[in-house]
Amino acid sequence: MSEPDHYLALGVAPDATTDEVRDAWRFAVQAFHPDRFTDPSLREQADRMARRVNAAWQVLGDADQRARYDRTRRGRRSPSEAPGRELPCPACGTLSMIADQQGAAASVRCPACAQRFTAMIGARLVGRPQLQMRFLGGRYRLELADATGARSRVQVRRLPPELALADGETLSLVFGADGRRVRYIVVHGARTDIGWKVR
Ligand SMILES: [Zn+2]
Repeated sequence: MSEPDHYLALGVAPDATTDEVRDAWRFAVQAFHPDRFTDPSLREQADRMARRVNAAWQVLGDADQRARYDRTRRGRRSPSEAPGRELPCPACGTLSMIADQQGAAASVRCPACAQRFTAMIGARLVGRPQLQMRFLGGRYRLELADATGARSRVQVRRLPPELALADGETLSLVFGADGRRVRYIVVHGARTDIGWKVR
């Protein structure tokens, strides 16, 4: 597994100012606060993300450490390393291109409305969506894995029936501004991305 990218973890550009990095870190710490998640697997994922953004801030928030990190980062990464994933903003629907995170969550800032949101990007679907019947209709439960094999489960109300999701498919989830509910699911096919609004 490749080393996590501190800029991607915070959803900031490599030339972001320290203030911008600090704002993004503060936002992400709140967005990924484990107390905000009731589902144990989402809580675990949030806990991992909180550790990741804190690690990023520890390096990027310190001028010397950041300069050192930038030097090694430039030598390590090429821009084409990770495929771009086009994801909609939960507030205004504007698409933005974000580097694939192999199933990790990232904090993204919408270029159009400046809303910050959380997205789980490039996760692998484990098995098929399971329909669970509830008192007032059903819900689909999706199990997703990231590059480390860590699993998380999400529930969505609707899945387009014509889209038969199969095991191993690559998906991204866009969470609403509250950081809890899935607003969009995007399936990354070999040639095209298919996205739909969940609620
Ligand atoms: Zn927006």
